[in-house]
Amino acid sequence: MIKLKNRGSGILRIPESTIQKIIDEADIVKVISEYIKLEKKSSSFIGLCPFHPDQNPSLHVSPTKKIYKCFSCGEGGNVVRFVEKYEKVPFPRAVQIVGEKCGINVDLGTNDNFHISSKYYKILEDSTNFYHFLLENTVAGEEAKKYLYKRKLNDEIIKRFKIGVSQPDPDLLFKSLLKNDHQPLDMIEAGVVRGTDPYTDVFRNRIMFPLDDITGKIVGFSGRIYKDSNKDEPKYLNSAENKIFKKGNLLYNFANAEYYIRQNDSVFVFEGFMDVIAAYKCDIHNTVYVETSF
Ligand SMILES: [Zn+2]
Repeated sequence: MIKLKNRGSGILRIPESTIQKIIDEADIVKVISEYIKLEKKSSSFIGLCPFHPDQNPSLHVSPTKKIYKCFSCGEGGNVVRFVEKYEKVPFPRAVQIVGEKCGINVDLGTNDNFHISSKYYKILEDSTNFYHFLLENTVAGEEAKKYLYKRKLNDEIIKRFKIGVSQPDPDLLFKSLLKNDHQPLDMIEAGVVRGTDPYTDVFRNRIMFPLDDITGKIVGFSGRIYKDSNKDEPKYLNSAENKIFKKGNLLYNFANAEYYIRQNDSVFVFEGFMDVIAAYKCDIHNTVYVETSF
């Protein structure tokens, strides 16, 4: 575990003082009311919790303490946390959204590389969605899910980490990306397709784990075999290094962990993404994985 020093610098891009100012100035009742209906009850406000199936209002919002708490599912935190959870955006973006609501501008900086490489990011995002769809809707997906369940990864974790499956077909992803108007050369550059006509998918018969960078954007994949018939192949196959997938860029889970890293003032750094997922199962969320070996 690494204790954080110099908070507000380094990988935590927004100074803690800015975040605190936004939390102090934002009207938590007003902000949450933009998402769910709240009613006043004595000194606090209550509403139906959006984070679990709620019949009776379990979510309490305290305007004085500037926090919310669900007394059914336990979800709670400050206004930024609510927006992060509700809008399913990375923590810095949630800070920016709440900042906009109270007139405080948060500059997240523009990444030049992002503009140049946006088509590759889009390919990886579409690939992730496609692999996840295959996991949920195909026979191969059913078999892969059995494997994941055996390793105690439930549906919530599968969804949360956007886990998917690649199929035996040689070019299923390629065809799907083509339909989405992606160009073969861009797919090759993004690391998911190879060859020249005929083009083939890089990953086949593997459970697909998308890997993300500091901003939460998917930059590559790690594919794991799950069938006995493939057991002679390498257990894990990772995206090859390319324009956007560089081992130094990988900061798996950081975008989702940032809130917890700040809360705990510490971060667990793992050498494998499965460790991050295992920690998540144990309710430990201030975790990242950095790749050092390939
Ligand atoms: Zn709840």
